Amino acid sequence: MTWSHWQVPPFITSVFFVLGMLTLYWVTYNWLTTWVHHHRRIKLTDSQLNTWYAVIYMAVFVFCIQTIVVGSCEAWQFMNFQLIAIIFCGYFLQGHVPSPFFIGILIAFIIYDGSLASWQSWGHALTLIAFFWVLNQLRVKVRTFPWAPLSYLAAGIVFGGILWVWMTFKYNLTWHIFGEEWLYLVIFEILLYVYVTMLTHDSELKVHLAQYANHDALTQAENFAAYTEASQRLFENSHETQQPVSMMMFDIDHFKQVNDTYGHIVGDHVLQHVTTTVQAVLDANDPDVKLYRTGGEEFNILFPNKDLAATETIVAQIFDALNHLTLSTASGRLNISISVGVSTLSANDNSPIDFYNRVDQNLYHSKRNGRMQITSV
Ligand code: GH3
Ligand code: MG
Ligand code: MG
Repeated sequence: MTWSHWQVPPFITSVFFVLGMLTLYWVTYNWLTTWVHHHRRIKLTDSQLNTWYAVIYMAVFVFCIQTIVVGSCEAWQFMNFQLIAIIFCGYFLQGHVPSPFFIGILIAFIIYDGSLASWQSWGHALTLIAFFWVLNQLRVKVRTFPWAPLSYLAAGIVFGGILWVWMTFKYNLTWHIFGEEWLYLVIFEILLYVYVTMLTHDSELKVHLAQYANHDALTQAENFAAYTEASQRLFENSHETQQPVSMMMFDIDHFKQVNDTYGHIVGDHVLQHVTTTVQAVLDANDPDVKLYRTGGEEFNILFPNKDLAATETIVAQIFDALNHLTLSTASGRLNISISVGVSTLSANDNSPIDFYNRVDQNLYHSKRNGRMQITSV
């Protein structure tokens, strides 16, 4: 087999073409997601990114591939690839592509293809809109049922057949070509289902592993590894931009006694309650302020772009909320108190550890001076 004698049947080439098109999408989408996560200023959820990147990628693909055959009597040649792109957007994305947007792209395609005057093309377009709507309904309503693959396949077979009937009339294709293309489409649809299911399973695994690597299993707060990474990043960022960064560190007072009196399980519940209480305060104030469990009953909170004065309200709210936290246990009601250290990054800090040590010293000062207090310098 050489460049001039390519002996692989077109159908096999097509299979790898479809797989290549999806793989390229997947690789670039994963790269883009990582990039967006690193640039926290871009406020896009993974679901929005997944939907809009896929729509743009597939639209570019559909139009580009049509460029090769547009205006010729073989302008139907790539329809199966284009249908796979549409099925992908209609069924496999996390988010919903709004119908007006889909119809807009469809009309743009008809204009681009020079098919405005063709009644078969309009019939084809209406069938596509119905197909897209059905795929969306199946995605939302039955995707988790055991028979979901069958409903997907049934829709793919029925609508695929109707779509090819329109093209058979438009281009005077033989019924042999009609049958062959319809069969190829069904095979591609099955392939798409299997391949996307495999890729999704892999990426879910990756998300779970990332979650375990950065989060504490007991409280679900971010862990020491996440804190180290974030404090280093904020430290470098602050040196570049001169933006302030502040930190609050707190430690539960006499926590050993809680374990000794009520048991370790109750101690664990206290840590979980502390985390949810602090998280609720942060969510209500500023989602950029993050909580980390850095030790057994020690927590750190990083405040990007906030000087000492700007942290005051949130620190006071957390202090107040935790000191009023009450838990009912089998041995009666339980109250806790915390000691707090707060400080802001200084130009004299040579590393995030210098910053951490100063906050820790402030916390230690609160402990030595009777606990249940805030030291902020
Ligand atoms: P202080 O006011 O000086 O901070 O006193 P303390 O008792 O809180 O401090 P100490 O360092 O003596 O004890 C910390 C306790 O926290 C000891 C340890 O058993 C408990 N602890 C650490 N991690 C966990 C955990 O995940 N679950 C539970 N239940 N207890 C924990
Ligand atoms: Mg303690
Ligand atoms: Mg401690």
